[in-house]
Amino acid sequence: MIYIFCAPSGSGKSTMVKHLLSKHPDLFELSVSCTTRQPRGEEVHGREYYFVTVDEFRRRIANDEFVEFEQVYDGLYYGTLKQEIERIEAAGRQVLFDVDVKGGINLKRILGDRATSIFICPPSIDELRRRLEQRGDTSPEMIEKRLAKADKELAYRPQFDRIVVNDDLHHAFAQLDAIIDETK
Ligand code: ADP
Ligand code: 5GP
Repeated sequence: MIYIFCAPSGSGKSTMVKHLLSKHPDLFELSVSCTTRQPRGEEVHGREYYFVTVDEFRRRIANDEFVEFEQVYDGLYYGTLKQEIERIEAAGRQVLFDVDVKGGINLKRILGDRATSIFICPPSIDELRRRLEQRGDTSPEMIEKRLAKADKELAYRPQFDRIVVNDDLHHAFAQLDAIIDETK
């Protein structure tokens, strides 16, 4: 089973994915996407993302290297590389995707029963703002853009196989563990 994680930015998607990776280090591996945004904080090329120029991204589109790609924010491209799925499955692991809502819906359409799509939901937009501010690695302008987008993304919740409300962290982990147990 492949797991697709989607959520408005700041809802706790990375936290959920990290929980699964640390609980089952030999079972799952995160697909590393390609992006044209700049690395932030401690991010490393090839670990969080393959950071590339817009020209390089366009070359990869022309080369048919993506399963899906989106212009997630103004001028910033993100895409899922076909090669990542092949690499992870060849290593005998199950693929985890952390993608935006549109990308997740597209991946689910492409992968069908091979994948379970999971929407991580923030308890409220106010709490989402607080978490993004507290994380401290996103500029105030980007935070506003992400909050404006969050409202629209929440409307896509019903299109997902499962929804986890990330209010209390340990409760959210327990919900996720139950989903994995049921679907793996
Ligand atoms: P995303 O990957 O969806 O952008 P993150 O996993 O980076 O979100 O979470 C955003 C911020 O909120 C991080 O600083 C994280 O530690 C914090 N966070 C995540 N889940 C919770 C929770 N249940 N309660 C409080 N803070 C949380
Ligand atoms: P961030 O810049 O915060 O790392 O990611 C911004 C958004 O882009 C997040 O919602 C993240 O899930 C999404 N994203 C990351 N990789 C991909 C991808 O390959 N495809 C799509 N469609 N979205 C992605």
